[in-house]
Amino acid sequence: MIKFLDLYQINQNHKKDLLNAFERVVDSGWYIMGNELKKFEQEFADYCGVKHCVGVANGLDALILIIRAYKELGIFKDGDEVLVPSNTYIASILAISANNLIPILVEPDILTYNIDVKKIEQSITSKTVAILPVHLYGQLCDMEVISEIAKKYKLKVIEDCAQSHGATNKLGIKAGNFGDAAGFSFYPGKNLGALGDAGAITTSDDHLAETLRALLNYGSHVKYQNKFKGINSRLDELQAALLSVKLAKLDEETEYKRNVAERYLSEIKNSKIILPIVERRESHVWHLFVIRTQDRVSLQNYLTENNIQTVIHYPIPPHKQDAYSEWNNLSYPISEKIHNEVLSLPISPVLSDSDISEIINKLNNYSV
Ligand SMILES: *Cc1c(COP(=O)(O)O)cnc(C)c1O
Repeated sequence: MIKFLDLYQINQNHKKDLLNAFERVVDSGWYIMGNELKKFEQEFADYCGVKHCVGVANGLDALILIIRAYKELGIFKDGDEVLVPSNTYIASILAISANNLIPILVEPDILTYNIDVKKIEQSITSKTVAILPVHLYGQLCDMEVISEIAKKYKLKVIEDCAQSHGATNKLGIKAGNFGDAAGFSFYPGKNLGALGDAGAITTSDDHLAETLRALLNYGSHVKYQNKFKGINSRLDELQAALLSVKLAKLDEETEYKRNVAERYLSEIKNSKIILPIVERRESHVWHLFVIRTQDRVSLQNYLTENNIQTVIHYPIPPHKQDAYSEWNNLSYPISEKIHNEVLSLPISPVLSDSDISEIINKLNNYSV
């Protein structure tokens, strides 16, 4: 069986360094808010080219806390509207509603699957306070246009970078450094994956970073003094140490995935399959390689019968989820089409050349 994502093998490649980091943390006797976190935060801030990286417990918390911080700073309030792509993973939307703000769904572009920048302005009202673009599947959104619109309407830009660690535009600017703040996830299957839950916020705004550091630690800047009704969303020393090990190899792993994607793009030839579009090699980090097909059930079954594991990202659009029953009767046709047709192929830093060839071969021989 060719696995969709062989996390065992991915982490085996780092095992010696991960074990060294583990031992260092065990022997330090210090497990929360220490030097490992400081070190990783500095490394990741440098990597993204931003002033601050604030480690948090997971990617959802990263986004929740950014919006919460803007509320504490008096910039957002209950009932304000945030524009978000209608085909994103549900977490981007949950972060908005968890703060009593209103998610306004904007349809994606059918070619890139990212928020359609031509549809943003028509969704802006007097209540709009932010745009939350998601660099979905690992490819950068059109941040030039998004930044212009945000400037024109004085909106905050909060990037969801959970799938786009290291994606870089033609000027060398990285995901997490386009907006006012960005949320990252280090869930084990993400491009930069911890061995458990972890996340981070990047920003170059000193005041925001300071507010976030309090909010994630019970609302406290100074021990036993609470300025806010905060939460506990700390990134622990162990995950921070493991993430430092994996960050050092991230670019190498991304390059490998780019080469896998290039083989898929040039060698998969089947009129039943729509391949993804990549604007520039560096702007995509291939968290997922997502194809589209009219007969997804049959293609997925065929691949399973041929020992190739695939996954659907995502089967149900957010507006059709029970959690958002108030939206169930609304229609977002582009999102619905995407959710009905997408299928993710295996792509990883440990997918072998022969596995890639096998996948390409099976796809090229597929017919209904
Ligand atoms: C994974 C993911 C998140 C949430 O990250 P967690 O660490 O799982 O909480 C948010 N947004 C997107 C687009 C994601 O893919």
